[in-house]
Amino acid sequence: MSATDLQCPLPSAEISGKPQMKTSNNGLIEISGKRISNIKADAHKAGSNLFSALETNEAGEISVDILAAALRRQGIHEDDPRFAAAFRALYAHPGPLTEEVCFELFQESFSIVERAIKDRFIIPRFYDFKDQINEIYAQCRGERGGRVADYIPQLARVDPDQFAVAVTTVDGQRAAFGDSDKAYCVQSSCKPINYAIALEERGEKFVHRHVGREPSGRSFNELALNPAGLPHNPMINAGAIMCCSMIKPKAALADRFDTVMDFWSRLSGGQAPGFNNPVFLSEKSTADRNFALAYFMQEKGAFPKGVNILDTLDFYFQSCSIEVTAHQMSAVAATLANAGVCPLTNERVFSNDTVKNCLSLMYSCGMYDFSGEFAFTIGLPAKSGVSGALMVVVPQVMGFAIWSPRLDALGNSVRGVAFCRELVNRFSLHNYDNLLNQQTKKDPTRRDAQHRGDQVYQLINAASLGDIDEISRLIAHGADINAADYDGRSPLHLAAAEGRRDAVAFLVSKNANCAAKDRWGATPLDDARRHNHPELFNFLASSLDPQEKTQ
Ligand code: GLU
Repeated sequence: MSATDLQCPLPSAEISGKPQMKTSNNGLIEISGKRISNIKADAHKAGSNLFSALETNEAGEISVDILAAALRRQGIHEDDPRFAAAFRALYAHPGPLTEEVCFELFQESFSIVERAIKDRFIIPRFYDFKDQINEIYAQCRGERGGRVADYIPQLARVDPDQFAVAVTTVDGQRAAFGDSDKAYCVQSSCKPINYAIALEERGEKFVHRHVGREPSGRSFNELALNPAGLPHNPMINAGAIMCCSMIKPKAALADRFDTVMDFWSRLSGGQAPGFNNPVFLSEKSTADRNFALAYFMQEKGAFPKGVNILDTLDFYFQSCSIEVTAHQMSAVAATLANAGVCPLTNERVFSNDTVKNCLSLMYSCGMYDFSGEFAFTIGLPAKSGVSGALMVVVPQVMGFAIWSPRLDALGNSVRGVAFCRELVNRFSLHNYDNLLNQQTKKDPTRRDAQHRGDQVYQLINAASLGDIDEISRLIAHGADINAADYDGRSPLHLAAAEGRRDAVAFLVSKNANCAAKDRWGATPLDDARRHNHPELFNFLASSLDPQEKTQ
């Protein structure tokens, strides 16, 4: 495993009581939540020669096309809302570009350019990853089993062969395959979103006074409530109708629908969703079961006070009739993966708590009667819909949207499920794959980037504090002793700089590389000297291989 594999700048969870170093999405280094330096400015001032990695002219300048191609390779596109203005300015700029000009034009987002060029996104070598997703797409395309939903003519008439896959990472890297620009109805995949909106607006306690959070173990539209007379959870019809009743109940129906549309737009990075009126009208005219569920809940006194159930049902049918493309839906999934902050705009749309609750229920209840099996075999929160929609979240890494209308007997997209099976077969993305550490046969360069990135920073942190117990625990759990942070600083660099004698000795005994160079070319020896630890300097010098000493 190379150091590059490990340099995943990730938002890592803080460990209580210990300062944590992390790199946020916008490339700012933070320690314990406090921003201490700006990579963009530092790199630029230090004369990073960033463009030397690209095809430059003799003066070290590049063309806009070269820059755009370099970004595209890593999944960053010119229509990304973070760059739209910068690219307009770049194309208007006469002649080739210096690093300084780019720095001026990209401003805040220059750090993203830097990370793209240095291959430091959550998914490194995105072009390889994209190839693999394309292979999985091609493999699943041959899958022709299942039947389109036919309970309304609008769904029955959909071309069953359509197939789209799209992915957006928490860094805003994007790729799409097949019919990813065709709009489809979200159907049941509106349920987690409406649940999240209800949580934002009314709070967890209120919401869960009216809807449970247990899998029902029954069909998604079964005429059944839990022993308390409430819907089992927000991912089945009764619970979804209940969530609709809690979103802006006093507002006009038009405003309530506007609210939901606005959330979809913000979740997908500013792309307005569509609305399929024929589907809405059809849903409404064939909805005896949903009417029955609403009246049943009303009889049991399950709704909050003052709810108009006919309006609520209309609102639910409208929500199911919202249309998005797979491209948009993958951004929605990525916003959930990114704890509620849209990676394409950096706007916080949902709170962390809302997303945590939402993903928990997607995990346990999101795939109809296949939810337990999906959690077991795929191990990711997901939500499907009868249109063949499937949204899959890899927390803190990325979101997928798969759309293919043929459904299996349980109502999930046949190709969607096949895609997920192959995805976790190739990559360690199952929630518990990180327990496997080095025992996995899956692609080692793709193994649970989040977990690996966290380990890097935890190990560096432990080394700088001289916490040997923690260092050995992390190594036992598979952390790479020579992994480095964004600046190429390894655990040994930090231990040497801080004068942690025992930690230095321990790391060296575990074969830490004494000759590792950080981004400024400094080795742990240089750190020991610079920070005035002569004993450590001598110890490290004596630990160097004879070959390294001559370098
Ligand atoms: N509109 C559908 C219903 O309420 C949603 C079905 C689904 O996607 O699960 O019956």
